[in-house]
Amino acid sequence: MFKPAPRATKIVATLGPATREPEVLERILRAGVNVVRVNFSHGSAQEHAATVRLVREIAERLGQSVGVLADLQGPKIRIGRFAEGRITLAPGDRFRLDVDPAPGDRMRVGLDYPELVNDVRPGDILLLDDGRLMMRVQGTTVAAIDCVVVQGGVLSDRKGINRQGGGLSAPALTAKDIEDIRTAIGFEADFIAVSFPKNAADMYMARELMRAGGGRALMIAKIERFEAIGNLEEILKASDGIMVARGDLAVEVGDAAVPALQKRMIRMARELNKVAITATQMMESMIESPVPTRAEVSDVANAVLDGTDAVMLSAETAAGKHPVETVESMARICVEADRSQALSLDAAFLNRGFTRIDQTIAMSALFVAHHMKVKAVVSLTQSGSTALWMSRIDSGVPVYALTPEEASRRRMCLYRQVHPIVMNYHTHEREAMLLESEQRLLEAGIVEKGDLIVLTIGEPIGKSGGTNTLKIVRVGEHG
Ligand code: PGA
Ligand code: MN
Repeated sequence: MFKPAPRATKIVATLGPATREPEVLERILRAGVNVVRVNFSHGSAQEHAATVRLVREIAERLGQSVGVLADLQGPKIRIGRFAEGRITLAPGDRFRLDVDPAPGDRMRVGLDYPELVNDVRPGDILLLDDGRLMMRVQGTTVAAIDCVVVQGGVLSDRKGINRQGGGLSAPALTAKDIEDIRTAIGFEADFIAVSFPKNAADMYMARELMRAGGGRALMIAKIERFEAIGNLEEILKASDGIMVARGDLAVEVGDAAVPALQKRMIRMARELNKVAITATQMMESMIESPVPTRAEVSDVANAVLDGTDAVMLSAETAAGKHPVETVESMARICVEADRSQALSLDAAFLNRGFTRIDQTIAMSALFVAHHMKVKAVVSLTQSGSTALWMSRIDSGVPVYALTPEEASRRRMCLYRQVHPIVMNYHTHEREAMLLESEQRLLEAGIVEKGDLIVLTIGEPIGKSGGTNTLKIVRVGEHG
């Protein structure tokens, strides 16, 4: 049975109450989720560890590779809870943010970051719930901020607060984040997302904590602070990837600036051989509705055309009414957009300079793939780094990464156009290994007899020495 080329763009789905049941989890994985996101802004460490165990059990049963992204809360400033769960505010209402942990009401609510009182001045604009509500600061005391509502609406428990223009003093890693990094290492998170980093130093610190704890996760910087935009290149160099975190970013830089920033961030990430996730409100209306809006369809497709590795779902899968339909719709939109993605094997590709052997082999494989119209690029890999190089360029040819390393397969789940395949070789002899690889691809329905494929290999085989060999093969005529 022959299968068409798989979807190039990956889907990250946030887990939550809507996806807690094993049946629902199984259905969203079947519908095409590549990476699940556990959000440390909600839930306990034990709950997250149990969720990850369950996801991996199901993935194993389905024979699917699924990555796990642990998203740290960061210094997000949040309001406390309301006695009634939610209130409604109208323009002109007075409202007080204070340090009292008692449940809030129509007049006031507590804050989980008491220092905010020292960070704001009269006249500052505070945005709540990703900018849905707006308040102007009238005055502050040692324990409270008095505001007047500019833009009203419903305000519910634990919603975030930002100051327009950024500049809040909170450090990037809170005590809770440091604890959560330990939890994430405990359940072997494949990716750790750092919220609100301002600069490279914030990312180095997070990576250092992760490594010191024995973790192997890739580090993702969430770009969601005004200050991070000016430091984008150094942040990228200090990270393995970025998330275009449009929720907080829009609040800090103004919503109209975000689309152009998204394009710049994705382009820069790929040029520096880093991955990019585009996040927040991508299919927002599907929290309630079984179909997306035209604008959402365009947004997802445009992120694909911008070259993102993955598109992310937040509340749609964490708390929405139609998690499975949302993933199905998103997958469908990605497949169509993938097909119209312009190839980047142009003059600029030919002029790219590289010095590393593995990178040169990766680029040569793409060149061959493109010109000889091969069915697949097949990478026999340990770490997956060859596949990462290949996935930074759109050749229009899928890359199948064969590896016995589960950790490598799980991180490759995020790489655009890369499809990890389980491969447990029975031999270390070169020809036999290549034959086994071919056999595996035939069995999986990825290639048919007579198809042309290009293989990349690291020799001597069996040693993790880096890719240095390229071979063009017609399937079934190996010799
Ligand atoms: P969050 O991050 O969902 O953790 O806030 C994404 C964003 O800000 O867009
Ligand atoms: Mn955010």
